[in-house]
Amino acid sequence: MNSTQETQNAQNANGTQDAQDTLRADVLVIGFGKGGKTAAAALGRLGRRVVLVEQSERMYGGTCPNVGCVPSKGLVHHSRKRREDDDPQEFYRDAVQKVQQVREFMRAGNYDGLNSLETVSVVTGRAVFTDPHTVAVTTDVGDRLTVSAETHPSSTEAFNELPTVIVHEDDEN
Ligand SMILES: Cc1cc2nc3c(=O)[nH]c(=O)nc-3n(C[C@H](O)[C@H](O)[C@H](O)COP(=O)(O)OP(=O)(O)OC[C@H]3O[C@@H](n4cnc5c(N)ncnc54)[C@H](O)[C@@H]3O)c2cc1C
Repeated sequence: MNSTQETQNAQNANGTQDAQDTLRADVLVIGFGKGGKTAAAALGRLGRRVVLVEQSERMYGGTCPNVGCVPSKGLVHHSRKRREDDDPQEFYRDAVQKVQQVREFMRAGNYDGLNSLETVSVVTGRAVFTDPHTVAVTTDVGDRLTVSAETHPSSTEAFNELPTVIVHEDDEN
């Protein structure tokens, strides 16, 4: 999906894009990692209009499935299956290809899972704050877009109350 379509999707989902290419949302989330996608999905399901900005379409899902946990453990897993008569170069190429397939599968699942929520829009581009409630987003094709959000996640209802933590005496050590 290109950035124009994404902008259109964001407009459709949140219905508040003005003439200067400014998207207005209740909540702005920067980064499609575990933290960002969890917050965006939770707030979206509560009915908040969420815009999530991720700088690279190759990073949907964040570090873990793209360049962290999943590829590193995947390569370790494949390396353990190598037999002595396997050609090292060919085996390595094959292992990397399998890992890439898993990454692509997870990336697509992450994107669809979030973007399918009516209240959440994913915008692909690098976000830079211009004031405490506004970011300028530059897409990989050089388009510029402004996203502004009235509230920070810390001031929304979902985050108003701290969870109660019960510490048992046995746990204190
Ligand atoms: C090699 C490696 C192996 C790992 N293995 C494990 C493991 O086995 N188990 C485990 O629990 N953890 C592991 N981790 C850690 C795990 O990946 C992180 O804890 C997790 O990804 C943190 O999630 P996050 O949402 O905070 O950040 P991230 O997943 O890093 O997401 C941040 C996102 O923000 C985007 N972003 C940053 N700046 C901007 C900007 N200005 N505009 C737009 N987008 C932006 C980035 O592109 C990125 O997608 C590993 C990490 C690495 C590097």
